[in-house]
Amino acid sequence: MHTSSLVQQLKPSATIAAAAKARELRSRGIDVLEFTLGEPDFITPAHIRDAARQAMDAGHTHYTPATGLPELKQAVCDAFERDYGICWTPSQVAVSNGAKHAIHNVLSAVCDPGDEVIIPTPYWVSYSALVELVGAVPVLVETTEESGFCMTADQLRSAITDRTRLLMLNSPCNPTGAVYPVDTLESLARTAVDADIIVLSDEIYDKLIYDGHTFRTFASFGEDVKERTIIVNGVSKSWAMTGWRIGWTLAPENVTAAITRLQSQQTSNPCSISQHAAIAALNGPQDAIESMRQEFQKRREYVVRRLKAMPGVSFAEPGGAFYVFFRVSSHFGRELPGGSVVTSSTEFCTALLEQAHVALVTGDAFGAPGYVRLSFATSLDIIEAGLDALEAFLTAS
Ligand code: PMP
Ligand code: GLU
Repeated sequence: MHTSSLVQQLKPSATIAAAAKARELRSRGIDVLEFTLGEPDFITPAHIRDAARQAMDAGHTHYTPATGLPELKQAVCDAFERDYGICWTPSQVAVSNGAKHAIHNVLSAVCDPGDEVIIPTPYWVSYSALVELVGAVPVLVETTEESGFCMTADQLRSAITDRTRLLMLNSPCNPTGAVYPVDTLESLARTAVDADIIVLSDEIYDKLIYDGHTFRTFASFGEDVKERTIIVNGVSKSWAMTGWRIGWTLAPENVTAAITRLQSQQTSNPCSISQHAAIAALNGPQDAIESMRQEFQKRREYVVRRLKAMPGVSFAEPGGAFYVFFRVSSHFGRELPGGSVVTSSTEFCTALLEQAHVALVTGDAFGAPGYVRLSFATSLDIIEAGLDALEAFLTAS
């Protein structure tokens, strides 16, 4: 059957494809050590699961307003004010089926075909694909390990043209774990105001910050910045709720109204039961977030220590999120176990999976050739076994 040129050009999500490949090997009896998907291994906290059960039993099993229940929109605003002291109103909130869907909504609501969207690399796999899906053009701006993978205001200024509509920022960043310093964020904010561009600030990892780093929401740099900022967040990472599919945007009212029109035609509404669970997540006790963060921090320290001792590996230590993004290009062109000689990160990941049964995601998918991503959102036992196998792979000749 015919498929559209739009979907023919669409690449599958590399993170999801890498996880599917690992699952397929496991179904053939191979014991794969998996570091692909960025999703907390913890089960959603009990009080949130209870709220979902109660919602079902109380008959909250019907359609809801297109962009979410009023109580949930209020809870999103209350949480933002509690955490960051900044007010949004429920009319500025649109709840969607996960943060990924929220990003697609934003791009559909603000971009016309041919508009340019600036994305610092390395970027999360779906950013460029979602930009292309709405007919806009990704403009990639390279950041380096040496600069901690943060884009500067000068770099932003050089990338802006009269077609620029939007800047996509992600701090803490997937895949690098970079947390933008406050002064860098502020100068990006001033540049965005001067150039009259919109900023999509993906703050999905705002609660996963490690020692010595500080999270600042992009909406905090003054009313003129907030007016052109769209925040994306959701329950997936902070409350270990990836499967519930609840994300949201905080945006000016006209953009939120556009997203509401779009979503009313597209999906009717996000899942009613998940919305009740999200209300419990936002309004209930927040201590589970801190215990999960502490566990992630232990894993991060372990991974950083081990990777530092491995030959031919370099990286910027992650300040947030649950990824380490490291360079392996010094291993290109030499003979690896199994006799393979690789020339790219993608080939490196394939050889590592086949020979050492360790699954990582190629940096090629994040716009960063030469690198690979390891997600440490998995148990310390698996991390230890995986790093042993990686080390053996890198040191064998
Ligand atoms: N933004 C970033 C930076 C992410 O890493 C992810 C991965 N889940 C998302 C958005 C999407 O989150 P969700 O699972 O809520 O769709
Ligand atoms: N965001 C996660 C990741 O980067 C989940 C997978 C996805 O949505 O791409 O691994």
